[in-house]
Amino acid sequence: MKAIITGEDIGTTIDFRSIGPYLARHLWPEETVVSAGHGVVLSHTPGKPGYATLFMEVYPPGAAFIRGEGETPEACEDSCWKQYQFALNCTPERAAENAGHEWEPRGYKNGAGFCKHCGTFSSRIFTGEQLGQFCRDCGVGTTHDWVEQDDGHYVFLCPEHTPPIPELSPDELFKMLFGENGKAHE
Ligand SMILES: [Zn+2]
Ligand SMILES: [Zn+2]
Repeated sequence: MKAIITGEDIGTTIDFRSIGPYLARHLWPEETVVSAGHGVVLSHTPGKPGYATLFMEVYPPGAAFIRGEGETPEACEDSCWKQYQFALNCTPERAAENAGHEWEPRGYKNGAGFCKHCGTFSSRIFTGEQLGQFCRDCGVGTTHDWVEQDDGHYVFLCPEHTPPIPELSPDELFKMLFGENGKAHE
């Protein structure tokens, strides 16, 4: 396995920081990139507190980013490994039938999908045509950009017809971030 930022080959020893080195017990491919530690997960629901947890994150070949949480390094690794097996083979039942994943967009407009059976997430599953998203200006299928209209409908835009992001001067950027009365103007 490889460390996430340095790319250093770490063999099967994963550094959970506060817990110290931990020996992986599953046969991860060598090129798997890993990061682990103890962190706080912020809540996005008002009134619901965040929580602290051990975590392990992997980028294994043949799958998207996977994150596992648990009370112990073993639990984190087992969670990641299970998700990885699902990503590669889908559920054991589907794998036995050689059926593979069955994707659904679940409201995503960027082409990403989730497997109905195992929950695996993957980007670039659906095309704009498949999602019924066509560029307002030229009519090609697109997952590139979209804008919600006042009536709740969406307008879709291909890369060619997406307006460029305006280049802001440092002064304009400052106003955007801090408002007209930012201290630097005094
Ligand atoms: Zn699946
Ligand atoms: Zn277009």
